[in-house]
Amino acid sequence: MQYMASSIAEGKLTVITGPSGVGKGSLVKQLLELHPEIWLSISATTRSPRSGEIDGEHYFFLSHDHFAELVEGDGCLEWAEFAGNQYGTPRKPVKQQLSLGRPVLLEIELEGARQVRRSFPEAVQIFLAPPSFEELERRIRGRATETEEAIQRRLVRAREELMAQQEFDAVVINDDLQAAVIELESLMGLCA
Ligand code: ADP
Ligand code: 5GP
Repeated sequence: MQYMASSIAEGKLTVITGPSGVGKGSLVKQLLELHPEIWLSISATTRSPRSGEIDGEHYFFLSHDHFAELVEGDGCLEWAEFAGNQYGTPRKPVKQQLSLGRPVLLEIELEGARQVRRSFPEAVQIFLAPPSFEELERRIRGRATETEEAIQRRLVRAREELMAQQEFDAVVINDDLQAAVIELESLMGLCA
């Protein structure tokens, strides 16, 4: 099956970045329901699965050794350390899906987005921001998936990420989720 992405044969690459708890996962889930033609990259990580997360569906959950092998074999398009764990985008499937002309979406943190900016300068880079830092903290805590220590690390990191938002092609504020989905559709050139 071929997916026509604007007028070019190669698929379009979009990167979504934003602090932990801002709602990236929620937004991407809705976007994929509306646009099944989009291919979402499944990352590799050394983080342990959260309750309900499935290996090969939410992430490829790897040991530290296996992750290191992937990186050393140049198997990652980008990779970074985040809040004590490693995360990376497997290179091969992304290339494959782009060559099929399919829109490809990466949901990754700041350092990874910077690496992709160097290797794929044509990719559209979108930063998802919270309406306020207080609301971001409420959301991370409301999700109740991390220990207090992990929450603190993520909040420290969130401040750094928020300071980098001007590097991105567009900033979408995730206040009302539906409004953010519509904005994202428009930035990605998708028909509603
Ligand atoms: P991320 O993937 O960026 O870490 P999640 O998608 O897991 O964030 O969202 C974190 C929490 O915030 C979840 O409990 C989610 O239901 C909630 N959330 C997401 N978007 C909104 C929104 N627009 N308004 C209120 N709560 C939201
Ligand atoms: P979480 O542990 O909450 O699932 O993800 C933590 C952070 O890692 C999020 O900001 C998420 O976007 C980012 N992330 C997930 N996969 C990747 C990846 O493949 N590469 C990079 N650089 N970051 C990723």
